[in-house]
Amino acid sequence: MDHFNFKDGELFAEGCSVRSLAATHGTPLFVYSRTTLEQHWFAFDNAFGDYPHQIHYAVKANGNLAVLGVLAKLGSGFDIVSGGELKRVMAAGGSAGKVIFSGVGKLEWEIELALDVGIECFNVESMAELERIARIAKARGKVAPISMRINPDVDAKTHPYISTGLKDNKFGVSLERALSCYEFAHQHPNLSVLGVACHIGSQLTELSPLEDAMDRLLEFVKKLRTTGIEIKVVDFGGGLGVRYQDEMPPLPDQYWQALLTRMQAHDLTLPVAIEPGRALLGNAGIMVTRVEYIKAGEVGKFCVVDAAMNDFIRPALYGAYQEIINVDQEPDSKAAVYDVVGPICESADFLGKDRTLAVKPGDLLAIRTAGAYCFALSSNYNARARAAEIMVDGEAAHVVRKRESLEDLYALESLIE
Ligand SMILES: *Cc1c(COP(=O)(O)O)cnc(C)c1O
Repeated sequence: MDHFNFKDGELFAEGCSVRSLAATHGTPLFVYSRTTLEQHWFAFDNAFGDYPHQIHYAVKANGNLAVLGVLAKLGSGFDIVSGGELKRVMAAGGSAGKVIFSGVGKLEWEIELALDVGIECFNVESMAELERIARIAKARGKVAPISMRINPDVDAKTHPYISTGLKDNKFGVSLERALSCYEFAHQHPNLSVLGVACHIGSQLTELSPLEDAMDRLLEFVKKLRTTGIEIKVVDFGGGLGVRYQDEMPPLPDQYWQALLTRMQAHDLTLPVAIEPGRALLGNAGIMVTRVEYIKAGEVGKFCVVDAAMNDFIRPALYGAYQEIINVDQEPDSKAAVYDVVGPICESADFLGKDRTLAVKPGDLLAIRTAGAYCFALSSNYNARARAAEIMVDGEAAHVVRKRESLEDLYALESLIE
């Protein structure tokens, strides 16, 4: 469900014409829909009903301040993986008390900052990290709330780069190791045990790996209880997939019903936390790009556009499929099969392969499902300034990140004699 629809043959983002947005702000251009974002957040929030729950948006999917600000206004919590993301959340008006800090490599300064602002919880990924947090908390006279991130050793059945819950992944600790971590935390005066956590991967399109992970976590919660350690919240992580092509990912309602069913099977009624990123933002954004050239190759044809892998790396990085559509539907124009490619000097620089499109130079294309892990993964490769970002809200279009200037790109550099 999103708010990018055609009216009289022309693509609109809510009440804004995408063609006029491109004319005013240039291309490549990211366009986010506030209404879509809010609807996705409420789809999760409503799914839980009265059951005690907290949604922690995974900031790394899209950390734009406006995105964070809209979610903060809804009362969302945040899942961060760096001190930089914590700063962003606070700059956007998010509350530190609703922040969960995940990630395998938390640095000293990041832990200090998180303790000073009083985050809700550290999701800890190793004994060494637990010891580091305990030492820093002690030095600052604080008590750090912690959950261990369990690696439940389940196959999330997603792309290997975004699968995180197998025992050979770098994430989390095994159930066996987790037990000694909890015993250490339980008796340490500067640590307080809050919950258990897991996050098994991203773009999950089936519930069964999540259900397996839940079962292992809930078993473990009961085991901890027998040792006198009470868990106050179970954090199931993020990972729910979105539709890029023909996937049928579970809806938030089905997801919550599955969680609830597992909880009931284990006779537990603990508050839950989730950390969705992609499922909130993915379909709340598009990227608009302009066709520069049509080029015939020895085999096949290329549609050369002004966006490239530096703007949009998912196809190059994961071989991901992204839907590409015309911004203006012209029913009589002739379609052909193209590889849609950018200007960068890499053969991996493509946005789509073998796409049937009716295009000519000057036309605008929109890449759908561009709200999550697109701008966030962008770079300045080939000295390309990063795209502008717009958030539309009904008929209003707000520039939420200006296009970078070329001077910005070398502003931090200097010549030597
Ligand atoms: C990336 C990440 C998420 C969000 O994953 P999505 O697939 O975008 O929902 C949640 N939790 C942790 C710990 C993560 O690393």
